[in-house]
Amino acid sequence: MSNQDKDAASDAGEPDAPDQAGTRREPSIAAADEAVLSREKSAAVRENAAHAREGEARIREASATLREWDLRSDETQAASDDRISRLQQANEHLVIATLEASVMAEEIQAAKDKLEYLVHYDTLTGLPNRALLQDRLGQAIELARRQGRQLALMFMDLDQFKHVNDSLGHPMGDQLLQSVAQRLVGCVRQSDTVSRQGGDEFVLLLPYIEHAEDAALSAQKVLAALAPPHHLDEHDLHIGASIGISIYPNDGRDAETLIKCADTAMYDAKESGRNTYKFFEPRMNAQAVQRQSIEASLRLALERQEFVLHYQPKIDLQRGTTTGVEALIRWQHPQRGLLAPAQFVPIAEDCGLILPIGRWVLREACNQAQAWLQAGLPPITISVNASTPEFHAVDYPENVGAALEAAHLEPRYLELDLTESVLMRDVASTESVLHALADLGVKLAVDDFGTGYSSLSYLRKYPIDTLKIDQSFVNRMLGNADDAAIVSAVISLAKSLRLRVIAEGVETFEQVQFLRARHCDEAQGYYFGRPVAAEALATLLQAGTAH
Ligand code: C2E
Ligand code: MG
Repeated sequence: MSNQDKDAASDAGEPDAPDQAGTRREPSIAAADEAVLSREKSAAVRENAAHAREGEARIREASATLREWDLRSDETQAASDDRISRLQQANEHLVIATLEASVMAEEIQAAKDKLEYLVHYDTLTGLPNRALLQDRLGQAIELARRQGRQLALMFMDLDQFKHVNDSLGHPMGDQLLQSVAQRLVGCVRQSDTVSRQGGDEFVLLLPYIEHAEDAALSAQKVLAALAPPHHLDEHDLHIGASIGISIYPNDGRDAETLIKCADTAMYDAKESGRNTYKFFEPRMNAQAVQRQSIEASLRLALERQEFVLHYQPKIDLQRGTTTGVEALIRWQHPQRGLLAPAQFVPIAEDCGLILPIGRWVLREACNQAQAWLQAGLPPITISVNASTPEFHAVDYPENVGAALEAAHLEPRYLELDLTESVLMRDVASTESVLHALADLGVKLAVDDFGTGYSSLSYLRKYPIDTLKIDQSFVNRMLGNADDAAIVSAVISLAKSLRLRVIAEGVETFEQVQFLRARHCDEAQGYYFGRPVAAEALATLLQAGTAH
């Protein structure tokens, strides 16, 4: 091809040669002619006429020769035409083949580019993938080693993303991942790498940090960027994230160790309540092992009937009577003893086991409430907690209805505790689930009120009966003016929206007095009673404890 090009180029150049040469010769001819004309004009005219005659004679002679050739070489002419036409055909084929080859070369290049992209990028989000991150991390470590600097790796996992997929479908889950990816890219520096590892896991590489605190700032930025709802179709989705951070060279000197440490720290962040970040600490390795063993034995706990419910009384602050109880799950672990929900509920949420566990809690609580009624104890409501995956499971209202029916319990005796994060996950679907539950006749309470990122407008929109003031505010309200103001404001808010209000975590008589003075309806906490087993609570109810 290149050789042909060269030939073509030289062919194309030939016609220019005489012109150029002619341009160089012309002035000297003109000058000489002028001189000849001036000195020997007549001689030149004669000479020119002789040349012209000579030229004409030569043309006549050549024509005669040609005519003679024409006559003699009809056969040769035909052969030559044939050769020319075959040459033309060959040439055409060559041109077509050349064009086809160039199209194929383009296609091969495009396929190569695509392959290159697939090998290094995630097709859903367009972010670098695991392989490219490994590559960049390796290079960044090498550079940091040579320059004696630190670098940070952040492993990020979306909180309960699985349940977005399960309740709203994979296409919505995909859109959410794309939206998260965009926000991540928007809040880091150009020199940082945001990659998707797969599923709902992202890894951020910060190759240039001065101190570990720089990574903490970046993690805070990421959490803040993810906090506002994602507007997708008609849904407003809230999703948090848990982030684990590892630092080179402190936590590891190679890519694999740094990723492992950041991953372990991420689990720790999840266990400390999610939507937060944690730096890796060596102690976390032991915890990660423990976590795995908990997950394994959690799978057997239901069939081995190792769960129990404890009940904590809720007290009417004006009358001093018990208005209800909250059912709180415990796990009687064969080796570790009685475990609190914080030690296993987050793990159960992550691996999906919370769904069968939640169904068991609903049935057990309804059966217990009915058993107390049958035993002639004063009627009380029973509160059951529902976490995000349970509430957003498509059959949640159905399960609630089934548990009530199986226990022959009137719906008004059952209250569901829903945290703000449960309610804010997806406004459109939350509203319809809440109405389905309210239609059943059960009561609805907002748990840990004041701790979420929620907007207050949902309080008007949703069929809610009760606000539960988070125990962190109650805890500090006597020593901190801000917390006291928040508690007072929540009580006023509840009153003006005609909701019942209950203070959680009440531990002292002074706290009771503060709440009574502000007309808080109910209270719950160690001051009135710790969560206890069903039999112990029955004794308490029989005694009709007055406070
Ligand atoms: P929660 O719904 O906010 O429950 C109140 C927690 O505060 C309970 O902890 C209770 O024991 C504790 N508490 C009560 N009074 C006081 C007090 O005066 N001082 C202090 N410091 N703490 C007090 P617990 O039982 O460990 O439950 C923790 C969380 O686990 C619950 O928070 C709830 O979100 C979750 N949980 C409990 N049972 C279940 C369940 O059956 N299903 C689901 N999905 N979550 C549950
Ligand atoms: Mg609760």
